[in-house]
Amino acid sequence: MAEDYYALLGVGKGASAEEIKKAYRKKAVQYHPDKNPGDRTAEEKFKQVSQAYEVLSDEQKRAAYDRFGSDAFRPGGGNFSGQNMDFGNFQNPFDLFNEMFGAGFGESIFGAGFAGAGSGRADGNDLRYDLEITLAEAFQGVEKSIQYQRRVTCKACGGSGDAPGAKKTSCPNCHGQGMVTSQRGFFQMTQPCPRCGGARQISSQPCSQCGGQGRMVETRRLQVKVPAGADTGTRLCSRGGGEGGLRGGQAGDLYVMIHVKEDEFFQRNGEDILTSLAVPFHTLAMGGELEVRTIDGQGVLKIPAGTQPETSFRLRDKGMPIMRGTGRGDHFVRVQVLVPEKLTKAQREKLSAFAASLGATHTPKEGFFQRLFGQ
Ligand SMILES: [Zn+2]
Ligand SMILES: [Zn+2]
Repeated sequence: MAEDYYALLGVGKGASAEEIKKAYRKKAVQYHPDKNPGDRTAEEKFKQVSQAYEVLSDEQKRAAYDRFGSDAFRPGGGNFSGQNMDFGNFQNPFDLFNEMFGAGFGESIFGAGFAGAGSGRADGNDLRYDLEITLAEAFQGVEKSIQYQRRVTCKACGGSGDAPGAKKTSCPNCHGQGMVTSQRGFFQMTQPCPRCGGARQISSQPCSQCGGQGRMVETRRLQVKVPAGADTGTRLCSRGGGEGGLRGGQAGDLYVMIHVKEDEFFQRNGEDILTSLAVPFHTLAMGGELEVRTIDGQGVLKIPAGTQPETSFRLRDKGMPIMRGTGRGDHFVRVQVLVPEKLTKAQREKLSAFAASLGATHTPKEGFFQRLFGQ
C-alpha cells in the first residue's frame, strides 16, 4: 500500500516548504515515543511522519514522490528514469527530530513540562552504579555494601523549594504560564520556565533546608544481593533508589550493573566453565584418571586410551549456577600433551626402542589447525 505523505502530515499537495516544516513539527511532538510511552501505534506514526517529512522537505525527493509515489522510496524499488538515486534508506527518525529541535530538547519538552501540566512536577533521574565482583563471588552469590550519592526530595518542603507558609506570587519570568517560548533558528520552542521550573508560581521565601532547590544531596549505603550465576551485563534494580522527584514527582531507580572480573584459571562462557589440562603423553596413550580443579572443588577426569590432544571432556553440572533458576552449566576440559623437556640417556634409549616398535604405522599427519577455545 502506498503511503500518502501529504495526508500523513495533514497538508495539501501544494503545501509550501514552510507549511510542511510546521506540520512535521506538530506531528513529531504529538507522536514522539517519550510522550506516548508504550504506545506502538504512536511510535509507528512517529516514524511515518519522519519519513514523510524527509521526502517532502527535499525538493528532489518530493518531485520523485509526486511522480512515482512512495514506491520510489522503498529499498530496491523505484529505479526511476534510469537515475541512480538511493532513496531506500530513511534517516533515523530521532536524529531527524533532534536536528529540527536541537539535541536534548526532547528531554525538557517531555519532562517537567508535559508530566505536570503546569504543576512543575518532575520525576527524579535513574542512577547507575557499576559493581565489580570475582568469578568465585558470581558462583556463590554475594552480598555487597555499596555507597553512592544522590539527590533526594527535601523533607522540609516536600520538594517544592518553598519555606513553610511562604507567600506565592505569579512567576514574573513566564508570567504565570509555566512555559517559556524562545526562538531557535527558524523555530519557536516552548520549554518549562527555568525560574519556576514549570510551577507557574514562585515563593517569596525559599526553603531554608534545601535553599529552594527542593532536593538535597545524601550519601546512601545499600546492601546489594548479587544472585548466584550473575554475569557481566546482569542489571539489578533498586526501585526508588535514584534521585528524588520534585513537587510530587516520583523518585528514579538505581541500576547496579554487574561486572565479573576475569579469572586467572577458569574461563567462563555463559553458564559453562572452560579450562585446559596438559596430560603426559603416556596417559593419553594408555588412558587413566586425573584430578582436575573445578569451580567448587575437585573433579575426576577419565581419559580413555588413545585420547588425542585438543579433545574436550565434559564434567556435567560442574559449571556456573543458572541465575534465578535451577541446575548448573558444565565444565569443559580440553587436553593438551605434556612433553618432557629433557630425557636421560636411559629414557632416550627406551623411547627409541618404543618408536622403532611402532614402525612405519606411526608417521606425521598434516591437516588444519584446530580451533582454540572461544573461537
Ligand atoms: Zn526544602
Ligand atoms: Zn516561570
